[in-house]
This record gives sequence, C-alpha cells and structure tokens, in this order.
Amino acid sequence: MKKLNPKRERGVGLVSRRGFAATFATGVLAAKQAAPPAAVPAAPPTQSTSAPPRRGLEPETPPFGETIEFKRKLVPAKARAFRMAQVRLLPSVFADCQKANFDYLKRLDSDRLLHNFRVNAGLASSAQPLGGWEKPDCELRGHFVGHYLSACALMYSSTGDKDIKAKGDALVAELAKCQQKLGGGYLSAFPTEYFDRVNARQKVWAPFYTVHKIMAGMYDMHEHCDNAQALEVLKGMADWADHWSASFPEPHMQDILNTEYGGMNDVLYNLAALTGEDRYVAAGDRFTKKKFFNPLALRRDELRGLHVNTHIPQVIGAARRYEISSDERFHDVADFFWWEVTSARAYVTGGTSNGEGWLVEPRRLAAELKHGSNTTEDCCAYNMLKLTRQLYQWTGDPRYFDYYERTLLNHRLSAIDRETGATQYYLSIAPGAWKTFGTENESFWCCTGTGVEEFSKLNDSIYFHDADGLYVNLFIASELNWSEKGVKVRQETNFPETPATTLTISAAAPVTMPLHLRIPSWVSSGASVKVNGKTVDVMPSPGSYFTLTRKWRNGDRVTMELPMGLHVEAMPDEPTTQAILYGPLVLAGKLGSEGLTKEMIVGPLGPSLRRHPTEVPGFRASGADLNAWIQPVSGEPLTFRTRGQAKDVTLVPFHRLFGERYSIYWTVA
Ligand SMILES: [Zn+2]
Repeated sequence: MKKLNPKRERGVGLVSRRGFAATFATGVLAAKQAAPPAAVPAAPPTQSTSAPPRRGLEPETPPFGETIEFKRKLVPAKARAFRMAQVRLLPSVFADCQKANFDYLKRLDSDRLLHNFRVNAGLASSAQPLGGWEKPDCELRGHFVGHYLSACALMYSSTGDKDIKAKGDALVAELAKCQQKLGGGYLSAFPTEYFDRVNARQKVWAPFYTVHKIMAGMYDMHEHCDNAQALEVLKGMADWADHWSASFPEPHMQDILNTEYGGMNDVLYNLAALTGEDRYVAAGDRFTKKKFFNPLALRRDELRGLHVNTHIPQVIGAARRYEISSDERFHDVADFFWWEVTSARAYVTGGTSNGEGWLVEPRRLAAELKHGSNTTEDCCAYNMLKLTRQLYQWTGDPRYFDYYERTLLNHRLSAIDRETGATQYYLSIAPGAWKTFGTENESFWCCTGTGVEEFSKLNDSIYFHDADGLYVNLFIASELNWSEKGVKVRQETNFPETPATTLTISAAAPVTMPLHLRIPSWVSSGASVKVNGKTVDVMPSPGSYFTLTRKWRNGDRVTMELPMGLHVEAMPDEPTTQAILYGPLVLAGKLGSEGLTKEMIVGPLGPSLRRHPTEVPGFRASGADLNAWIQPVSGEPLTFRTRGQAKDVTLVPFHRLFGERYSIYWTVA
C-alpha cells in the first residue's frame, strides 16, 4: 500500500508519482536471487521458456485502444479449486497460524471497527476509535473493515465456525444501515469529498483502494456465508462506482487511475459474473489502466519505477476479465506479468518489491536489494499467491505451485506471530535484518488486512480437481471431502519438517479416478511413491504430476517420499551473492538477538538497519559440494551448521526464526 508520509518520501523519485515510504537503510551486504528455472517455472507452459513471444502485435500497436469491447465467453478451467468448506486443516504449523489469526479476529471489537462508518453516516457511536490506519483522521480508514469481512467469510468457510460467521453477518447489517443513511449506494468511513479530490487531481491517499476492500468484503460474505444482504450492499456500491466513473471522459478517467485503486476492476468483474449483468463489466473496464496494461500485453517489462502493490491487484482483475470473456489481451497481461515478476523480480523467498517499488531493470535484484532493507511488502506476496492460483487453474501446470509453495513456506509463514496473530508489513531480506510485527490495535496496515485474509484461507490451494481426477498440490495436513465423487482424502504429514506425506482414501464404494501427485521441482534424487506399502515402479519426475489411475478402495494409502537436498541460488546480477536452500526451504543464518528490543520488533513497518547496523559474515565455499561445508546438526531437524568458516553460522528454515537477526543472502567466495 502506498503510504503518504511526506517525511518518508525521499530518494525514490524514479519510483512513484508521489514517492514511496521507503526508509533506506544502508545496503549492508549484497544480496541475490534465485536462478529462475530452479525457483519457479521458467515460463508457463503456453510459452517458450526463453524469451516470451509477443502475440503477433507490432510493438507500436497498443492492444488496449480507446474502447474495450466485451462479449461473455467463459474460459473453461483445466483444474478447479474445491469449495473451502470441503477442506479442513489438521494439526500442523499451518493450523497454528490459522488459530492465531482466528483468535485475533475474535478479539477485535465490532463497535470499534464500525466507529468511523457510523460517524461518517451521521449515526451515533461511542466506541473508542482504533489506531493506526483506522484512526479517525487517516484517509484510509475503513479499509481494514473490508479485509475483516473477507477474513470472517474465509475463516467461516475454512472452519465452519458459526460465531465468526455471526460476527461478519452483524457487521454487514450495521454497514448496510450506514449505507442507507448515506443514500443507499456509497458506503465508506470517509466522505465523498475524497473522491472530489481524486477527480480534481488533488492530494488524497487512495479512496477507491479503500472502497474496493469493502466491496470485496461484501462479495466474500455473500460468496462464503450466503449473506444476501451483503450482495445488496455490494450492488449499491457498484452502482455508485459505475455512475461516478461513467461521468468523466476517458482521458480524464485514465488520469484518475494514477491514484491507487486496488482491485476495483476485479470486484466489478466478479459481480458481473455472479449477476450476469454486463454493465458491471463496463464499469470494471473503466478501471483498465492502459499505460500499464499495454506494455504487458506486448510482453514488455516496463515495471521499473512502479509501485508494486498498486499494480498486482489490477492484474488479478485482468485475469478475471480473461476468464469471463476469453479476451486474449487480458490473458497476455496476466500471463506475462506473472512470468516476469516471478522469474525476474522475485527474491529467493518469492517476495517482491523494495521500498514498495520495482526500482531497477529486471534481473538486477542484487542491485535492487542494495537500495534498502524495506523489502518484500507482505501484500505483494499475498496478491502474487492469489494470482498464481488463478493462473494455475487455466492450465493445471504444476510448476505454478513451485512458486506458490516457495512463497507460502518462506514468506507467508514468516509473516505471522504464531502467538498473537500479529502480521508484518515488510519481510526484510536484507542481511542482518530481523522480523517486525504490527500491534493489536494501533497498526491496521494494508498488510494487516491481507494478513487476516491469508491466514483464514490456508486450505484453499491444497487440492484441485477436474471432471475426473484429483490434484494434490501442497503437502499440508488436511482432510478433503469430495462429496460429489463420494470420496474423502486424509493427508497426514508434518511437512516440511519431514519430507514425506501420506494420503488415505475413504470411500463407501470403490471409486475409479486419477490421482495426480505434484512432484516438486526441488525434489532431489530418490523420490518415491508407494501404494499400500508397495513402491510404484516408475521414477517420479520433478516439476510434473505423477498420476495414479486405479479403482480406489476404502483404506487405500499412498505414501510419497520427497527427499530434500542443499542447494544455492545466486543473484542473477551478482553470482557471488547466494542464498542457501534445503528443498523448498530458504535457510536463514542465526545472527543473535543482541541489542534487539521489543520496540524494535513490535510496531515498526520494518527493521531499521541504518540505525541498528550489524556485521554479517561471508563464506568461503570449499568446492562445489555444499555438503562439504554445510552439515546437518544431529538431533535438530532442518538445522545446519557451516564448517571451516572464519565465523561459522547455524542455519535454520527462515519461517522458523523469530526475535533474532538473520541473513539469507551471503557473499560466498
Ligand atoms: Zn501492504
């Protein structure tokens, strides 16, 4: 989320129209990035794996001209997600994160959440206002309430908990009263005067961004909780946005789109798909920022200088537009954007952005990391995961899940305090950094919002299906109830602590179906699949599905062994700057907690390395074999220790390390 804090806007004139809130710490050490092919699909399967081709358009022909036509033509999905209510998490680190988030959602007081909405609508409220970005004078106030609605809806879908649904339902009812008081369409915690400022191109934070969160929250409450009132509220808001955006000539609306507007296009397309009303597509199309989409549709990376999380939601909208229209231009925008960000602009954790922006040319990540320690804003990772699962469904290519898994395990699991449910803003990957977290009631950042959503939907991408078969994409302890097929699958694992998983089938009558098991690209030699204890006599191939088609009977068991090995990924522009991984896990070197105070951990957007610098050791590799100088610590799973270095370091999975300084990028001689 682009923040407006003039004191912090400096040194990034290249990046933004108004500048980012980048606090640039000293570049303590060089850093680097994964060699793309190992980390992510080198390209989606529709493309060449080298230079993505353009689709027959001359570069000077902008694919998005003045008008954008719409014809409804749905794109059939190759693989579909299950309803979240069909998948339940079993005990694991993922369930722990879900529980911490669940408790946080329950602790938040509804009257406090509603306060600014009621005040804005002229309704009585005696609640104590919340702080941070929900403060009564913050221009983004209300944004978190939208995220909160989505989180309640997703959490209900994930757990079936009736109290969390009731809390969401009650908020919808109270917000509907505010909407009625405001005339039945517009709904926000701030006055429409903010939109007058958008129109006049005067300084204002991001009113459409905020309204989008509320609309998405209403959409989710309808989608997951069957809340009919939420749909009515959403339609009122959409009608207002349609009317507002239709009142300007196209060039002026394009100028308006320079103010961050979240995923307005996405929610309007979703509403169009739900209601069958094309006018919502027309409204969504007005939020097509052509100067951003045109180069992407031509497969050109002109992302340098852009604010990252302003733009990812727009691409999620483009992906949705393709799904309801089959319009290839929107396909190309989403397809190329995903490919470019994951292969050329993502760090080893899967996270992207520095100081919220893309500061340099593609594949120059070591240079980018030297710009500062406020790297990989959480919202960006959240939204890239959303986009990834969406694109996966078009092709069913398992390599999308190499990126998904990498980002989920290393970035997202790192970003939540498993005791308090507090989430992060920046997950710093600068050498010598430490993890910082928001407060209970005084933060409410954009990333707090996407955080409560993320940890309410950890079950949404484990399993997918087509008409016949089941796809197992993530190794997370869980139970799937494929009721339409009359089959249940229980996945028992403590992956990634143990590199294996077991699936047990329950079926009242035998079921014939293909079972597609994802074999990750990181699997080292010795992967195996057993059915009822008997090894299948075919070698699984990394980066593909291993398909077992048979008549499944009650009690059948499938076991997968997915051996991990040590490997490094070097920055593309600085080969001596390397990250060390074990299977999909990014390893962080423990650098101690000396000098870290609670104030340095709880409250800040990120760690200030400029004020609190530290020394980070370098390594000397004694040959190509990592095992020669990085060895497992006996009795401590997934823990390693360097050997023979000037200063030896203990390495643990990044997602397990809290309250301590770390490095994940090292200078390796
Ligand atoms: Zn954010």
